[in-house]
Amino acid sequence: MRVDPPRAGRGRIQAPTVIDCHCHAGTGDGLTGPWDTAAPLGKYLARARAAGIDRTVLLAPFHSDYAVANREVAGIVATDPKRFLGFAFVNPVADAGRVAAMVGAAVTRYGFRGIKAHRHDGRLTREVCAAARRWRLPVLYDPMGEVSQIELLAPQYPDVAFVVPHLGSFADDWAAQRSLIDIMARHRNVYADTSGVRRFDLLVEAVRRTGPDRILFGTDGPWLHPGVELAKVRALGLPPRAEALILGGNLARLTSRAPRRSRDVSRVPIAGRSARRPVAVATPGR
Ligand SMILES: [Zn+2]
Repeated sequence: MRVDPPRAGRGRIQAPTVIDCHCHAGTGDGLTGPWDTAAPLGKYLARARAAGIDRTVLLAPFHSDYAVANREVAGIVATDPKRFLGFAFVNPVADAGRVAAMVGAAVTRYGFRGIKAHRHDGRLTREVCAAARRWRLPVLYDPMGEVSQIELLAPQYPDVAFVVPHLGSFADDWAAQRSLIDIMARHRNVYADTSGVRRFDLLVEAVRRTGPDRILFGTDGPWLHPGVELAKVRALGLPPRAEALILGGNLARLTSRAPRRSRDVSRVPIAGRSARRPVAVATPGR
């Protein structure tokens, strides 16, 4: 339930800003499933609003050309830059050689504040991690249960925040999720999001062992119901400060390190074949 912001001077605790760190938006071109066909936001937005979700990180669905998909996401973010925050989707394999340019364009032109990659497209590469380091962006990387790579990446890029969706496995691979908690306990730059996690006690254990500053509320919308995903975090029954970190504080902190969108974009190379035309978008509120 949404708690109305307190009036000044009443001494009540300010309701935290609730930010969904993981929602897809736009059009895919694979046509093999919902994940690469379309991510329409209509129902999601109504449900998120009703649940009290204030802001949402948007990223593309699967696509054969993420320069195209990111541009579409930028257009959606521009419709309500106070509510939306964009992440740049890259394919570590297909975009090899142009990742730096794509991410640079996404930051300076679109005001994007993070990177998204998926094991379905390819394993995370040094090129992607270097771009994250260069622009001080968190990387939302879904390893599809192959969490062992996170163990290798984290110490190589200790200054990069790796946010692992679904506690490591959308497919409910409890062993992978348990392994990720171990990895998180060893490496302070590894985070997890709560989207789609069904084994509730693994979430409880993740918070207990890593602390509330390492878990981020996410929904994997529009395909999962944001209110249901939010209820799961509320059900952890955490003290208000800890809950506020998970619900938005951590995401706000991790995305605050990126530079603001530059007025002068001429120094940044343009992304490959599909992003030659800049998109006029407003700078997001934060
Ligand atoms: Zn997702």
